[in-house]
Amino acid sequence: MTVKAFFNPASVEEAIELMYSQSGRGEYLAGGTDVLCKHEWPDFVVNVRDLLNTVKQDGDEFVIGAAATISQVEFWDELAAADEGLMLQCAKEFGSRHIRNMATVGGNIASAVPSADVAPPLMVLEANCVVQGQDGQRTLPIADFFTGPHQSVIDKELLIEVRIPKPSANIKTDFLKICRNPGDIASISVAALLELDGDTIKKARIALGSVAPTPIRILEAESFLEGKPANEENIQQAADLCAEAAKPISDQRASADYRKHMSMVLSRRALQHCLGIREDQ
Ligand SMILES: Cc1cc2nc3c(=O)[nH]c(=O)nc-3n(C[C@H](O)[C@H](O)[C@H](O)COP(=O)(O)OP(=O)(O)OC[C@H]3O[C@@H](n4cnc5c(N)ncnc54)[C@H](O)[C@@H]3O)c2cc1C
Repeated sequence: MTVKAFFNPASVEEAIELMYSQSGRGEYLAGGTDVLCKHEWPDFVVNVRDLLNTVKQDGDEFVIGAAATISQVEFWDELAAADEGLMLQCAKEFGSRHIRNMATVGGNIASAVPSADVAPPLMVLEANCVVQGQDGQRTLPIADFFTGPHQSVIDKELLIEVRIPKPSANIKTDFLKICRNPGDIASISVAALLELDGDTIKKARIALGSVAPTPIRILEAESFLEGKPANEENIQQAADLCAEAAKPISDQRASADYRKHMSMVLSRRALQHCLGIREDQ
């Protein structure tokens, strides 16, 4: 197995130009923790690790460069303060320290696997992806990025950054993940975000990973909760809707039945935690 060419472009424009102009199967290379673990390597790789690796605040948005590592997100205190530790929690459960130092947010999204850990929390934060190709840039909600297992709306386009609108001040969030061993790929993951107005749920966002062909937002559960009293009964009904929406498969990590049942259990736990009903995380 050989990669015939390794390109180290000096700019985003050069990276894109190389991807479109070279013959053979090319892949962008960020941390390499997916690309280099595949059975078949591409004919050529275009290194973007040094081009897009910053995190910053830009007005009312938190901007994660596509090649920023999971560790960079883990240690971004301003983001943790704004999203109530949601991305921090996700990052802490992501692989080992070595993997978190190499793996990038953009690589995780672009790999487009149902288990991509950053997808559910970015979905509940309503993040947008900025992608660039030969014809310029476009921006789309992360919920519209994934089209199937290992498939997304981009082909040769480069994911540039992820933009998270500054969350409102009184949100509560949680991220939960079940895996066979600590630091493993998720068998199931869930991210929840609630905004309360007194005892009423003003806004609800919930997303699941590893229970469908792509990471999914559970719109039925979100609209069920919004405007309702924040109580155990409503949380349970929303969690049941999450299990209904899950369309899991059985694989080496978990059976479909287990995933379906745990979609309900994890969603309930995450929502309970957002309401302060459950502290044992
Ligand atoms: C031991 C181990 C543990 C792991 N644990 C986890 C885990 O806990 N959770 C989890 O979700 N994943 C996990 N993974 C999978 C992997 O680490 C992640 O998916 C990681 O985020 C990929 O990022 P990367 O920078 O290494 O991507 P790369 O391997 O460099 O690239 C992955 C794919 O994305 C494409 N790509 C990369 N950057 C861009 C870009 N800017 N624009 C367009 N396409 C791009 C590449 O061409 C390639 O197809 C693990 C992997 C290993 C080996």
